[in-house]
Amino acid sequence: MSIAEVSTHIARLPLHTPFVTALRTATHVESVVVTVTDDQGVTGIGEAPQVWRVTGESLDGARACVDGPLRDVLLGTDPDDLNTLLDRVETAVVGNRGAKAAVDIALHDLAARRLGVSVTRLLGGTATGATTDVTLSAGGTDALVSAALDRVGEGFTVLKIKVGADPAGDTERIKAVRAAVGDDIALRLDANQGWNPKQAVAIIGRFEDAGLGIEFVEQPTPAHDLDALAYVTERTLTPIMADESAHTMRDAVEIIRRRAADMINVKLAKCGGLRPARALFTLARAHDMGYIVGSMMESHIGVAAAASLVAACGTTAVSDLDAAWWLTAPPLTYDKGRIVLPSGPGLGVTA
Ligand SMILES: [Mg+2]
Repeated sequence: MSIAEVSTHIARLPLHTPFVTALRTATHVESVVVTVTDDQGVTGIGEAPQVWRVTGESLDGARACVDGPLRDVLLGTDPDDLNTLLDRVETAVVGNRGAKAAVDIALHDLAARRLGVSVTRLLGGTATGATTDVTLSAGGTDALVSAALDRVGEGFTVLKIKVGADPAGDTERIKAVRAAVGDDIALRLDANQGWNPKQAVAIIGRFEDAGLGIEFVEQPTPAHDLDALAYVTERTLTPIMADESAHTMRDAVEIIRRRAADMINVKLAKCGGLRPARALFTLARAHDMGYIVGSMMESHIGVAAAASLVAACGTTAVSDLDAAWWLTAPPLTYDKGRIVLPSGPGLGVTA
């Protein structure tokens, strides 16, 4: 038994509603889809989403990495020898963690399919789904409140709100959402690096003074500046989560060492796949740091992998896996804020 082929193609999937943030408006998801095929014709699939603004990696770059050095280290090897394969992928090139994540996911999918089990079972779990938040697109107060009520009506109990583009208006908008949805719905905020440290402390302080019950604030300050993140974490009561600052194990170690955040957002495309994500969980647990799994704007493939990971390993707070909810005719079922995983084998989804 051996890996016979590693191939890539670009997927471009439409969203049913534009996804609007302070930085951009997305109408499609674009990803590199990786297919790994063994000599019996069994396939595994994975995905590297387009995330210029977080990892700096492009679709063309990810594709070149998979079709070149990663394919070279996999062809002819034993698909059941998963840890050895993942070691080879890890050391084949520097960086390129989106491409590595796509291959890591495809190798897990293939190994699970060869065993006839789900990826969740392969990872040692039995749960059949994962609860997720849902992000409200950036917009005016009325649009935000209306979207919040729609999502709560659909059964979501955790709402994520993008903030940072309009600091003066953020408090009023969030007050309006809190008043509309009541106290039983969790509200979490993502500033996507939008504030400087003093601004962040002042704004989060206003949220606290207003009694808005914010679950956590994600990445208040610029990604590269862990001192800024530590400044905010030290001076606020609201938990602070690192996202754009936290890609690799090294990043997480440095965040822990400097007490720069209370939680980290683990994303497969940032850390390199399911195996590095599990290592990050272990590191975080050892230091009483909270963690969730998030996703980029990506397709059902990457979201199924992330949800399988959450189903198998759990997280300390509800994860952030709504990307596939935005797809027109999503191949994954979202039932009252919970992703229902296909029964498998593997990820249970097709490209
Ligand atoms: Mg984020």
